[in-house]
Amino acid sequence: MRQPRAILTTHRLSKEFRGFHAVDEVDLSVAEGTVHALVGPNGAGKTTLFNLLTGFLKPSGGRITFDGRDVTGQPPERIACLGVARSFQVASLFPQMTAREHVELALQSATGLGRRFWRSDKLMRRFSGRAGELLDEVGLVQLAEQPAGSLPYGRKRALELAIALALDPKLLLLDEPTAGMGLEDVDRTTSLIARVGAGRTVVMVEHNMSVVGSLADTVTVLQRGEVLAEGPYDRVKADPQVVEAYLGADVA
Ligand code: ADP
Ligand code: MG
Repeated sequence: MRQPRAILTTHRLSKEFRGFHAVDEVDLSVAEGTVHALVGPNGAGKTTLFNLLTGFLKPSGGRITFDGRDVTGQPPERIACLGVARSFQVASLFPQMTAREHVELALQSATGLGRRFWRSDKLMRRFSGRAGELLDEVGLVQLAEQPAGSLPYGRKRALELAIALALDPKLLLLDEPTAGMGLEDVDRTTSLIARVGAGRTVVMVEHNMSVVGSLADTVTVLQRGEVLAEGPYDRVKADPQVVEAYLGADVA
């Protein structure tokens, strides 16, 4: 089989907070079309790395290349424009707006049309077909006309995913997609990510090892800002250093 190309790479990527190395010379290579999980103990630097990749933090050193371009130090809007979408936090949903309206608005903003047309009926009709497809893709078709504020927690996260997908991203970044979910929502979200991940590139920070095991093609384990291990889940899980650092408690 031909090796997929790396759509995202980092070279000695580093972030210091007043002399503290939160991310320390990390080399990462994310293959196009794969699901890549970032795991590691609390404080390992996962969120910081994620913020570097999306431009929310500027690196102290090293480089980031996305889709053949050096994007080091670029602002979040620029990185988003190049095709990197990140799942939004629940707090960013508008409680009174319906699920459908959220997705239509996201589709509208992806076209770059100005605020002049904001939620005009005519324009929204242009997006309603695609919005319906996206809501279907995340299993929200039946809840499309519900205000976002009334959706159960797991469905809010599914809506965030639909909003991220509206940008038709080349790379989808998911920040702990199953955090705070009960078992049923975890299962539903896992199959949802498997479905939307087909044919897309996904990088996710995830603590639930069974989710990582069933979704990730590649796992990178971070510890104290450094890459401790990287590879397929089964190999990484068996690495004695990893077991000691992190997985031991979960797997034992
Ligand atoms: P993780 O997501 O793996 O739990 P983080 O990336 O949030 O870890 O944090 C890594 C380390 O960097 C932690 O020790 C944290 O306290 C520190 N850190 C994160 N953000 C900041 C900040 N803005 N200022 C100072 N220290 C920070
Ligand atoms: Mg974190």
